[in-house]
Amino acid sequence: MKPKVAFFDFTGCEGCQLDALNLDAQDLIDLLNGIDIVNFREVMTERSDNYEIAFVEGSITTEGEIERVKRIREQAKIVVALGACACIGGVNCLKNHVPMEEALRIVYGKDAKYYNTIPARPADAVIKVDYYVRGCPPSTSELVKVIKALLLNKKPDIPNYPVCVECKKAGNICVYEKGQTCLGPVTRAGCNAICITSGRYCWGCRGLVDEPNIQSQKDILNKYGLTAEQVIEKFKIYDTCSEVLK
Ligand code: SF4
Ligand code: SF4
Ligand code: SF4
Repeated sequence: MKPKVAFFDFTGCEGCQLDALNLDAQDLIDLLNGIDIVNFREVMTERSDNYEIAFVEGSITTEGEIERVKRIREQAKIVVALGACACIGGVNCLKNHVPMEEALRIVYGKDAKYYNTIPARPADAVIKVDYYVRGCPPSTSELVKVIKALLLNKKPDIPNYPVCVECKKAGNICVYEKGQTCLGPVTRAGCNAICITSGRYCWGCRGLVDEPNIQSQKDILNKYGLTAEQVIEKFKIYDTCSEVLK
């Protein structure tokens, strides 16, 4: 029997699910040979409450979503947070910087009274999450790696070292040398430092490594005459829910 897998979306742009559909054709065929997808709103109308593995995309931003994600947790043997919104709160946490009434007014204007919201939070602030597929959106190769590990009953091997390691391997010139800031020293690798290699810097979409070397990040800032505030501003994009920075 193939394990039944369900994908669920909460508050987010659904780009993680969309990106999952960009899987290499052979990977997709291999996966479909190993799993039975029973819920995936973006590609199928059939729905089932009978599944063993649940992928949860998006952050939790309403009381109703709290109840819904708890029901999913009760049903699934394994819950995987899919993408930055589900793993660390992501861009939705930007609204946590203002009172919720103000956030509603900014977004919905005079219709704000028809909506309800609570501060955004990652899935594991509400339920136990077993595994994480990180990034905004996650790399399809990491998604495949996690699913294959689950099928083999193994723990997925996800990097727990900083983006700087992959950045150095890629031969990039550090953006600090160009007068910019970057969250690579404390952000979990696994994306092959794609943003830096593409001419940008790391915004921290994969979240912090388990034991971020905050002192190392401070030393870098000192070396380049920068303040902590200049780099913490970047954390607000994705990881404002992180307790480490509070
Ligand atoms: S992690 Fe990024 S791509 Fe995925 S739902 Fe959130 S904003 Fe969209
Ligand atoms: S700080 Fe950023 S640009 Fe510099 S090495 Fe680390 S990841 Fe690369
Ligand atoms: S470089 Fe940073 S922001 Fe870009 S994908 Fe990797 S973790 Fe995310």
